[in-house]
Formats: sequence, structure tokens, C-alpha cells
Amino acid sequence: MLAELEPVLIVFVGVFGALLGSFLNVCVYRLPRNESVIHPRSRCPGCGAPIAWYDNVPVLSWLALRARCRYCRAPISVQYPLVEAAVALIWAGSVAWQGLTPDALCDAVFVTLLLGIALTDGQYYVIPDIFSLGGTVVGLAVALAPGGLLWWLGFAGAALGYGLLWIVRWAGDLALHRGWIGGEELGSVLEEGETPTSMGEGDLRMMAMVGAFLGPVGVVLTVFLGALAGSLVFVPLRLAGRKIAVPFGVFLAIGAVAALAVGADLVGWYVDRMYQL
Ligand SMILES: [Zn+2]
Repeated sequence: MLAELEPVLIVFVGVFGALLGSFLNVCVYRLPRNESVIHPRSRCPGCGAPIAWYDNVPVLSWLALRARCRYCRAPISVQYPLVEAAVALIWAGSVAWQGLTPDALCDAVFVTLLLGIALTDGQYYVIPDIFSLGGTVVGLAVALAPGGLLWWLGFAGAALGYGLLWIVRWAGDLALHRGWIGGEELGSVLEEGETPTSMGEGDLRMMAMVGAFLGPVGVVLTVFLGALAGSLVFVPLRLAGRKIAVPFGVFLAIGAVAALAVGADLVGWYVDRMYQL
């Protein structure tokens, strides 16, 4: 149900989201390179010129500069304005839907973190701890706050998220080791280096974060929906003979957003039942 809010308020939250999206771009570029996200200020990767504030206005500067650096004309990826617009929509949408409530803030933070994870995992096969473990701490703090998820649901969710993926990884590694599933193919990918094919520690930590926010039911939904989304993309690629390492985090992020969308009703129903007992 849409909350009745002044449109100007929603726009204001959207602008905040766009600025946060701009910072998320910095995080996505620098965290996988182990660089500080605070210092130094943003520079053009082409010519090294510092980027002035008026060339750093979310979405608008990219349009005004026609996707090129002001000094060296090096192209600026469309990913920057897209991420800024996406985070603006996440925040404005969350508030438009749920009003200026703790739930809206919580969902917006959660989905922003998932976007950051999907972008770093999709491009670099890395899930930075700041997103996963930092997000876990935030999710547990929210669960402990008055009016939040029943606190133990957050902790049980984090433990289940980590534990469930640990078991999935263990079973997967065992199957690879014993040669039950395409060990030869994956082995040849591994020799080329760079891209890990097995599920990484980052995926486990990410699911602890998802569990802290969504609880145990959300974890199960996320893994199920994420596996479904991943299969829809990777089974056809495999059948077409393409060897690509699977960025599990991307699909777990998709599953988590879907779980957030459909899972709230389910968890709400569950919690209502608990109170009726
Ligand atoms: Zn430049």
C-alpha cells in the first residue's frame, strides 16, 4: 500500500539516494582493489585529473559531460549514472511505499548493500567484508532494536545463512573432488587463475547478512530463488558450451530482493501465528 506523503519529501529522499549511489560507485570501484573509499578524492582513471563537485553531480554530470571526461575525453561508464539512479529509486520507492518508517530505512539499506554486492561480485568475483559483515552487524542491530524483527530471528537467520551455504560449499567441493560434476572443465578454468569457481567465503558472509535482515525463512527463500535465477542464466550458457565462473553473489542478491518482496507477507503471517499461540 502506498503511503500518503508529500511528493517533495519523496524527491528529497530520492536525491539522498542518488548521492548515496554516487558513494556506492566509489565503493564498488575501490573496495575490490583494497583502496580507501574516503581518500583520495575521485580522479579520472584516464588522465588522473581530480573530479570537481560540479562534474560529480549524480546522473546530471554524466549527461552534461556526454559520458566523457572534461579534460581527456576518456569515456565514463554508463554504470555510474545507472547505479545512482537505481539507488535513488530504491530509497524513494521504499519511502513512497512504506512512509518515513524504520522499515523503509531498513529495506533501503538492505537493498543498497545487495546492489553493491551484486556489482562487485559480478565484475570482480569479490564480495567486500564491508558489505557482507558490515551489513550483518547492521542487520543484527536492527533486529535488536525495539519493534524490529524478533531479535532471535535475526541471529538465527545469520547463523542459518552462513551455515546453509557452508554445507552447500562443502557438498559442492566434495562433488568436484570426487569428479561427480564437471571437475575437468572447472579444473581447466582454475588453471587460468583469476576467477574462483567454488563458492567463496564472501558468499557465506553475504548470506549471514541476508539472514540478519530477513530471518531464517528469508534465508531459505533467498537460496531457493537465487538458485532458480542462477540456473535460468547459467544452464543455457553451459549448454551452449560457454565456460564462465558463476558469481553466486549476484544471484543470491536477486533471490534476496525477491525474498524481501514476497517473504514479508510470509514472515508476517508466521510471526502473527507465533503471537496467537
Ligand atoms: Zn580524464
